[in-house]
Formats: sequence, structure tokens, C-alpha cells
Amino acid sequence: MVDESLIRVSSGDVLTVRVTGQPGRPQPMLHLLGPNGAQVAAAGNEEGTVAAVVEHRTATAGAYRVIVRPSNAAAGQNDVVTLAVTTPAGPQVRTLTIGGWRPRVLTSVQAGEHLVSTKMPESSSAAHILYVLSADGRTVLRRASGNGFSGGADLYLTAGLTGLTAVLATSGVSESASLARNDLSLSSYDSDGDGLGFKLEAAAGTCSSRQAIVRGVDCRQIPDLRDTDGDGIGDGLELLGSRTLSLPRWGANPRHKDLFVEVDFMRRTPAENAAATRLHMAPDVARRFAAHYGDRATVDAELKARHATTLANPDGLPGIAAHLDIGVTPQRRGDATVFGDWGGYSAVNAVRVGDKYQGQQAGQAWKTQMRAERRGIFRYALGYSGGGGQTGPGFTASYNFDSAFVATHETGHSLGLGHGGVYGLEPDVNCKPNYPSIMNYAFDSGTGFADGRIDEGPLLNNLSLRESGVAAGATPEFFDRMTTVFGYFVDRQHGDVDWNRDGEIAPPGTTVSAYANLALRGAGCEYTRWNRTRISEAHSTQAPALIRHADRWYTFLVAGAQVRYSTSTSSWLCPEPVPTGCQDGKWGTSQAANLPARGVTVDAVEAGTAARPVLLVVAGDNNRNMWQRRSATEGGRERWTPWTRLAGQVAVGSGPSLVRMADGAVRLFAVAPDGRYLMWRGSSAGIAGLAAPIATSDGRTLSRPAGSQFRPAAIVAKLAGRTGLYALFAGADDRADLWTLNIGTRRWQKTTLLDTRPGPITSAPAMAWVPPGRTGTQGTLHIAYIARPSKVVRMMTSHIQVTSTGKTQHVGHDVYFDNVWRSASGIDLLYEPGVTINVTAALSYANNAEIWFHPKADGINNNNYTNYDDWAVLKNEVCRGVVSPGGLVVNPIRC
Ligand SMILES: [Zn+2]
Repeated sequence: MVDESLIRVSSGDVLTVRVTGQPGRPQPMLHLLGPNGAQVAAAGNEEGTVAAVVEHRTATAGAYRVIVRPSNAAAGQNDVVTLAVTTPAGPQVRTLTIGGWRPRVLTSVQAGEHLVSTKMPESSSAAHILYVLSADGRTVLRRASGNGFSGGADLYLTAGLTGLTAVLATSGVSESASLARNDLSLSSYDSDGDGLGFKLEAAAGTCSSRQAIVRGVDCRQIPDLRDTDGDGIGDGLELLGSRTLSLPRWGANPRHKDLFVEVDFMRRTPAENAAATRLHMAPDVARRFAAHYGDRATVDAELKARHATTLANPDGLPGIAAHLDIGVTPQRRGDATVFGDWGGYSAVNAVRVGDKYQGQQAGQAWKTQMRAERRGIFRYALGYSGGGGQTGPGFTASYNFDSAFVATHETGHSLGLGHGGVYGLEPDVNCKPNYPSIMNYAFDSGTGFADGRIDEGPLLNNLSLRESGVAAGATPEFFDRMTTVFGYFVDRQHGDVDWNRDGEIAPPGTTVSAYANLALRGAGCEYTRWNRTRISEAHSTQAPALIRHADRWYTFLVAGAQVRYSTSTSSWLCPEPVPTGCQDGKWGTSQAANLPARGVTVDAVEAGTAARPVLLVVAGDNNRNMWQRRSATEGGRERWTPWTRLAGQVAVGSGPSLVRMADGAVRLFAVAPDGRYLMWRGSSAGIAGLAAPIATSDGRTLSRPAGSQFRPAAIVAKLAGRTGLYALFAGADDRADLWTLNIGTRRWQKTTLLDTRPGPITSAPAMAWVPPGRTGTQGTLHIAYIARPSKVVRMMTSHIQVTSTGKTQHVGHDVYFDNVWRSASGIDLLYEPGVTINVTAALSYANNAEIWFHPKADGINNNNYTNYDDWAVLKNEVCRGVVSPGGLVVNPIRC
């Protein structure tokens, strides 16, 4: 740090400059430069004095430059000195601080080299000054200031300067800076065209040619010599920056992969436009984002080193360095390379689409919001407050920037990662237990990126899961996750995992089927959606009814005022797991079922014996009536009875819910106009007689609370060792309880099986019972329901909890059926032993009233799960997405 000041004088004036140091400290050095920049006088370095004095009679008028500097490198500390300048106008005296003098000897200077200084992290805005001094240090031969990139200095060298010393200084501040000699302008010295001469590249450890020997990288192998670390940003830009982009100051490193993102704010409403709302990613979110990409979730040094090798960082260090322009100035030490206000941030107005306003698409907004000179360097993101994100692979991302998890995860999508590993590799399965990654919904933001290790979990396939010894040799962290994230009963010593949650470890040599990705937290594991298929062109805002009868699938629904149905004769095995469609499944077009009054709700059941099955359909209308009709299929032809009205009245929309009993009889549930729950009895001949209220063992009659939208539902199942009729009735708080009928007393008892009471619920919960065998020794009860008011679909399942005191059956694990965004007006489940392999579902989607069939609603699919190495994907994609957005970069870096 030096002090420079300009003194204006006339020709012939006498200028006296005196600098007084302190006793015991090296004497300061004083230079006086004339208006043309050439030194006219100097003083200092005299033995035995503390003052340096220059007296000069000026030959020309103009601005003379006074330079006060430490005399040598030993004067490295801050020295306080006094400067007195006397002109004909009188004396001026001030104290100033100098220090940090680090001369560098220039060897073998070739004409045309540039001596350049670069602003480094935490540096100030003060301009850099470069000097070249004569051999005795008394003459300033060259000076340059602030003429380089971003406040750095750039001094052109000539051959005669060999052996002299160069010094980088700033005035008034000490500063983090680097000094380099760039030989790029010498003929053929920058053969790779990255803006760095080969000598500078050798000094910086970057590749200049295929023959170059560079520590940590094989220059013969990298895709583009201009980009040694393979992050898509050229070596010259990373080392020196550019006129407008202070990349080194923001933390760029040509030997370590960097990820620069401009994070703008997405206004989404006219109100935000009008209020000129300007929200930013919060500093702590930026820090945690950078920690994830920097691999700081990994603590094991050996693993970190392996990740660095995978990433091919020439400096051998792990992680990708993230640098976010969020329009917020750094708050504390260490922030400078993580985030800042680097001049790119803007708030982007919502745009009108049709009659609604919405946020601009990031894929469009960047073209106008991100400055052209950032193309090929920065990625672009639009953030907003709340919610999730919607990002695919590519250059842009948009997400809730209040959440470090969401920002990291969505950026991971833009960098080519799906929920189960590499994006686009189907099937991309969420919540794989053996893929511990922040890309996986099962895990929270404490999880970093996965690295594909086999000891993080064995190969898995939900159709055939080995339980005994399956995870022998797995890490303790694997078992920790199995218990805390998935709630599995494990035996760490033997490597056992109870995938089907039946409280038993299946013996060696056997396998079980289970939804192994059912994580107990997160936004939903999505594996229930695979092979989903549109049932018909019909639309409905009511729950569909799914049933099998006479070797056919039926889906009944209320579309408009009509009861309609579609049939399918497909097997719905769907051997290939794909997001939509099933190679051996299709539904026919829907047909009208001609209900005489305006239909509201419908349910269906197969009654009767295996030899003489009868399809029974009951519909509710908007006049408090219920209607039934039956079909006994003969020779493949449906033979329908007319609709007939049931006795009694019900609250509109409160039923029907039909259940088949073990003997082929049926029960029908609905709610009376006065709120009491009702049950009818029936058979293959239909529902007959009057309904009976639901009487409890303590002598009460169960009623639905006023304002409830809950429809009762029932199923025959074996729970807690007892086979019987189980039903869901909403209590006074509109949350459901699981009740069971005591055959002897004909009264209902509330069970204690539910871990949590679902509710409030709209429409009827759907239940399916999978008997012991396929999914375990205990059988599995599924309860799917529509939460009110969000209409999000959730599902609960029964499981055996193993504790030190024993095993108990529970119905719980109340999680999203698909994910938090899958909303529906209604759902039905169906499992038919011997016919279907999976629990299947029909849903009426809330957003578009379409009716879809989910043939694998239990998440059991024949598909191998592997762990995945996220770093191997990030290694390539950190480059690919950025190098030429929209094809707008000329001669982009090759990845
Ligand atoms: Zn995602």
C-alpha cells in the first residue's frame, strides 16, 4: 500500500515534499513524477535519517504525482508517516499509512509481455497500481493504474526491463490481489486461444497445449485446451476475469470447477409488479447451496478425495465452487466467493397469459435479463418465495429460493440429475433407499450428492427383495437411513432389512415384494404413478369406482349428470416401467349407464359366488335418493337390470360406499340426511330393506359432523389377528377413526390401529386389502384418501412395528400417494388376489377432471434400483449447460 497524490503547479514553481517516518522504522521512499509520467526527483534510503526530502523547480506546468512508499519489503507492516507538500500556495500536511511492499524481480522479460494484476476475493474497489523500478529502486520507470480488468492494472513490458523489480500496490488499502506476467501477446504464445500465454499457463497450472505437463490434469485428454478444469469457463476468464466480470474476485479458479449463477426474482402477480417487489435469495440459502455443491455434506476425507477425482478437478479438491449473483452484498468473511451483488440481479415482472398473470419462464427471461457478456459463464435462475420448483436439464432453473434444499435440488435437475440418478435414464425412480442424494425426495437437505457406492445399499427390486443378509457390509449410515427415513426394522449385525414391514426377516433364499421406496417424510415418493394410463375421454369431479367383474375391469364415474363406465380386458401387468402408458393395457371408450335422475356419486362391487358373480352398481343423485342396478355377465355379454330406487334417503354426496363380504354378500354405507351413518345389507340380488344406523359397543349412534365432506368406507381385512369388517367413520373433529364390527353383538368398536387419524377428508377414502402372502406374512391394508381442502392424495398402509417389547400392528405411514402436487377429487383402490399382481387405483385428477388408472398403486414394480454417482453427472453437465445458451456464444468451449 502506497500513497499517491497529485499536486498542480505552474511552470517555474518550487515544490518541496518532505516525508517523515518514525524512529526505529525503515525510512519511507519518495518519488516525484512529472506531468508526462516520468520521474523528476526521488528521495529516501539515506542512512541515519527518518525524513526524505525532495525540492524541485518545475520545468512545465501541470499535475505532479507524489508517491510515498515503504522503502523495502521489511516495511511490511502499516507505517504511519507524515507528508508535507509546500508550493507557492503554502504548505499542506497530512499523515498517512504505508506498508506491504513486495517487489518482484522481472527475469527474462520479452517485449510484449503484460504485467497484470487481478482483484481477488475480499478485495476493495480501489484501483491497483503497478510500478517498475530501476535496479537501485530509486526510479519509477513505469506506472499503470486501474487500466486492467475490474480495477486491476495492466503494464506493458519491454525487453529492457529484465532484472528490474515490479511492485503491485494499492493506495490506502491493503488488498487480496494476484500479479501475473501474461505472455499472450507474443507471437504463438497463446496457441489455445484462452487469453493466457503459455508461460503464464505453466505458472498457473493450466493447459496451453496437448504437450503441456500440468499437475492434476492430462492435457491430452481434456475436451478443450482453453478450459483446463472442464467447467465450461475459459482459463483466461477464470484467472484474470474480463473488463466487466470480476470472476477471480468472485472466486473463479481455472483449476477447480466453478458454477456461476445469476439468481433473479420472479414476480408472479400483478400486485408484485405494481409494488415493484424485489426479493432475493437469502445469504444463508446461498451459503448452504454452495456447501452442497462444494461437497461439504461429506465429512470423510477419503470420500471427498474420491469425489474430487470423479469431478476431475485439477487442484484435487472436492466439490464444485458455486458463486451466486443474488444482488445482496456479502455479510461476513467467506461470503465473497459464495454470493454478492455483482450487477446482474433484477426483479422480473409477471406477464399476462390469457386472463391470468404468471411468472416469466426462466428459459425465456434470461434472454433479456442476463447481460450478453455473461453468456457462456453464468447460468440463470429465477427464484420466488414458497413452493417447489420446476426445472429440467438445461441452462436455466426456477425454484423457491427460500429453501436451500429446493434451490440445490432444482439446480441439480438443470445439471442433469433426476430423482434417481442421471436425468432421462428411465425409469427415473424417486425415493430409492439405496440412492442417498439431495435429488431424492426421501432425504432432506442434510444429505449431499450421492457417489454410487455399493456399500450405501444393495441392488434392489421391489418385486423380489431379499431381506436376510441383503445389506451385509453396508455402512452404518445406510442402516441409520433405513430406520430414520424409511422406518424399517433392521438387523445391523446380519445385514437384514424388513422391506415388507411384516416384522419378519424372510429366510435366506427367499424374496418378498414391497414398496421399498416408501419414505416417511419428504414430498412423496411418486412410484405409485408408474404406467399410469388415461381411462377414457370422460371428465369427472367425483370419485371413480374401480371393480373387476367377469374377467373385465370396470371404472364407473359420474360425468356431468351421467353415470358412465369404461371397461378393459387387459392384464395390466405393464412389464416395462414407464411413466405413462402400459404396453399390455388399454381401456375402451366410456358408455352411459342411464341413471334416471341427476347423478352425483357412484360405487360398484362384485357380489355373489365365484360361480355366479353379479356386478352391483349403486348411484346417488341430487335428490337424496340412491339407485341400484345389476349385471350378470353371460357369455361375455352384460345383462343389466333397470335402475331401481333404494328405500330411504341419504345426504347428497354422502355415499354410496359398497363392500363385498367374505361370503359374497354386500354392505352399503352412506349418511342419513340427519347425519347418522347408515349401513344396508345386500346380496347378489341387490340391496334390500332399510338401513340401520351404526351402533357402538357403548350404546351410541355414530354421526358425521355438520359440514363434513367425508363419505364412509369399509373393507374386509385381517388386522391385529382378527378377520372382520373394518370401516372408516369421521369423528366430531372430521378426522377418521377405524372401526370394526363385532359380529356377535352387531355393534362397532373403535380400533387403536391408526397411528394418525386422517382428515379432514373429502370424498370417500379408498381401501384395499392385500392378504398374507405376496407382501408379507401379515397382509397389508392400504387406505388412500383426499385431504381437504388441498385435495392432495395421501395413502396409509398397515405395518408391523418391532420394538424391544414385541411386535404390534399399526396402520400409518401417512404420506403422499404420489407427490405433494398430485391432487384429485376422488380415488378408488382395487386389489384382487389371483387376478391382479398390484394394488391398482383409479383417480379423478383435480386439476383437469381427467380419469386415470394407476396399475401399480402399491409401488411394486419389476425394476432394478442402483445407487448413482451424482458427481459423475455433475462433472459433465456443469460444463454442457453453460457454454452456449441458445447457441448464442461464438466458438463456445467444448465439453
Ligand atoms: Zn425434483
